[in-house]
Amino acid sequence: MPLRTMTTIPPGGWIFEQTVDGKPIKKFKSMGLVWELARNIADFRAGNGLERATPKEALHDIEEATCVRLHNDPEWCIGDKKKGVRAAIDHQLKNAKAAAVGGRILVDWLGSGAKPVDIAIAQRRANVCLSGAPEGKPCPHNRDGHSLLQLTANTVRAIAEQMNVREHLRLRVEGEENIHSCFICRCPLKLKIHVPIETILAHTDDETLMAMPQYCWMKTEQQNLCPRFS
Ligand code: SF4
Repeated sequence: MPLRTMTTIPPGGWIFEQTVDGKPIKKFKSMGLVWELARNIADFRAGNGLERATPKEALHDIEEATCVRLHNDPEWCIGDKKKGVRAAIDHQLKNAKAAAVGGRILVDWLGSGAKPVDIAIAQRRANVCLSGAPEGKPCPHNRDGHSLLQLTANTVRAIAEQMNVREHLRLRVEGEENIHSCFICRCPLKLKIHVPIETILAHTDDETLMAMPQYCWMKTEQQNLCPRFS
């Protein structure tokens, strides 16, 4: 039975016991992201020649095991898998009301299937935030310190990775430890660089776009999309 949400740690944490022929061979426990645990289990299975060795399969098994452990408590478990993702999105939507532009972009992205742009595009965007300002300097609007939004972004990333049909997808680029939030749009950049430009523009007003520096990847991509506005 699926869980209502994968973003809230269930009572006792995430617990999974790997068995072979009905005998337990390893116990996994985590108080962190369920997707990370799923990946660990998948790695363990792959390394030991066990079946169901993809993160997606492991994630499904964690859900099943958790609901068995919680005796299918309706507060945590439901019968329709889609509702679990929906509940997670709804939860994000609630948070997004306070998160302004950044939150709305991410929720819209989740709602439309969380399809990321090609990783090369995401890397190119990150590089602009990291060193696209004149003389190869970091963009001054790339700033740390929006901890609430970063927390939401991590949650969104976990959901997006879970939702994505491509196995082993990881929304990561080189140097991402140095990209934070964009001070102009208040978006968590680690995630926004993966979102299609159409989704971003749908939630970004002209005033915000005008405030972006000319070298910003959002401006460049907008101009490529609609050359008449350049
Ligand atoms: S203004 Fe553009 S380049 Fe600068 S941090 Fe924001 S998104 Fe990145």
